[in-house]
Amino acid sequence: MIRVRFAPSPTGGLHIGGVRTALYNYLFAKKHGGKFILRIEDTDQKRKVDGAEAYIMEALDWCGITPDESPSNGGAYGPYRQSERLHLYKQYAQQLLDADFAYYAFDTPEELETMRTKLQETKAANQQYSSINRMEMRNSLTLEKPEVESLLNSGTPYVIRIKLEGDKTVEVNDIIRGKVVVNTNTMDDKILMKSDGFPTYHLANIVDDHLMEITHVIRGEEWLPSAPLHVLLYQYLGWDAPTFAHLPLLLKPEGNGKLSKRDADKHGFPIFPLNYSDAKTGEVAEGFREKGYMPETMVNFLALLGWNPGTEQEIFSLHELAEAFELERISKAGAKFDIQKANWLNEHYLRATPKEILSGYIIKKANEEAISCSFAKAKAIVDLLIERSTFIQDLWNNGQYFFVSPTEYDAKTVKKKWKEETVQALKLFISKIKDLESPTPETFKEHFEKTVNELELGFGKVMPGLRLALTGQGGGPDLMGILAVLGVEESIKRIDTAIKTIKL
Ligand code: GLU
Repeated sequence: MIRVRFAPSPTGGLHIGGVRTALYNYLFAKKHGGKFILRIEDTDQKRKVDGAEAYIMEALDWCGITPDESPSNGGAYGPYRQSERLHLYKQYAQQLLDADFAYYAFDTPEELETMRTKLQETKAANQQYSSINRMEMRNSLTLEKPEVESLLNSGTPYVIRIKLEGDKTVEVNDIIRGKVVVNTNTMDDKILMKSDGFPTYHLANIVDDHLMEITHVIRGEEWLPSAPLHVLLYQYLGWDAPTFAHLPLLLKPEGNGKLSKRDADKHGFPIFPLNYSDAKTGEVAEGFREKGYMPETMVNFLALLGWNPGTEQEIFSLHELAEAFELERISKAGAKFDIQKANWLNEHYLRATPKEILSGYIIKKANEEAISCSFAKAKAIVDLLIERSTFIQDLWNNGQYFFVSPTEYDAKTVKKKWKEETVQALKLFISKIKDLESPTPETFKEHFEKTVNELELGFGKVMPGLRLALTGQGGGPDLMGILAVLGVEESIKRIDTAIKTIKL
């Protein structure tokens, strides 16, 4: 049985790259009839942020990538929060100590600083606490046993470090990267247990992946450097390592370097799936959801950021993705965050949304402003605006003139298109439509054509003026449709007002 996990640390807003990692795990599990697990890695008590776990769950739910096992729905391998599994990490740290694969280290911050300065001065190839210099440090390998006992008993702060054998080759086999080979001389004796009694990420991660029977570790490329250490931890604990797949980075839209919140701000797109309010600064960052991206868009967009189906197909539902997904088709190269693609997909999914839902949205927005709006009117607005909308909000924001008469007129269009002949034509148009009863766009068109023909003016001379009068804008959807939504009375009122207001 395939078992994969998404293992975020609840240290803040879940970055969109994290959502992609979760999605790839989910897709892989579904493809193989396996399980997708959410594990909260909250061993770094200092960086833990209240509400972050709930945020992560809400974000996953919104995307429809709900875990089979998680802190909230439980499962047979729980608990799923690392802070509730401390006894397990202690047990395995002890196993490593007993087997001489780990040791206690009592070095004070000052001693560690001295070590660093010394290493820098000697320009040693390995600048860390490692097999090369550990015998010069204060740890259970260098101190006499009774002294170690007494330090432990007296409550002296200590950490437990892994004891790496020097000059050994470690191989990591990664589905995406292939074989990665590292020599242990370039690695350090990483801390496994911290002085606060909490494990570090490395120990907790390995213990949990083993106990939770994780078969594939699919995670961001930033964890690739840790993978050799993980492989050794599995060996030292006598366990089989899972299969690794390290996902390519998400790159800035320009393609040079890792995508950051700053890049997203610069380009005006979100970096978090949902609104995220920073407890420290009080700053609220707008999420993809609130901006108007649909979950279908997110899933489709993120899936294609680093993975491709090997065909020309670009539109995929979550279900279709799960069928097509293969780890082998994930690219090594970083994936450029092309927000235009996300917008294009959102337009696709917005257009595929039932008209009833979109009309209902307009009615709701209108009601919030104490404006009444019939279903027929809302539906007509949707029909007019849908082709030029990227987000559902555009249907409301770009259609304000359907509810409120313009008070300003686009200056550029006024200057270029509002002429004596425009006014003359609009007056003639009014006389032609004033007695019509519930005309359709076609009827309006007929009368408009008659107007311009009579005056031998051509559409281009009158259209912009009529649009200005009705909407205040220089561009927009089909004018005859707008006339039909506004109706004869309101349209004439607006044309009259424009004639009176706009200076020639
Ligand atoms: N807790 C790690 C993170 O926040 C998990 C890395 C992994 O998947 O091993 O990304």
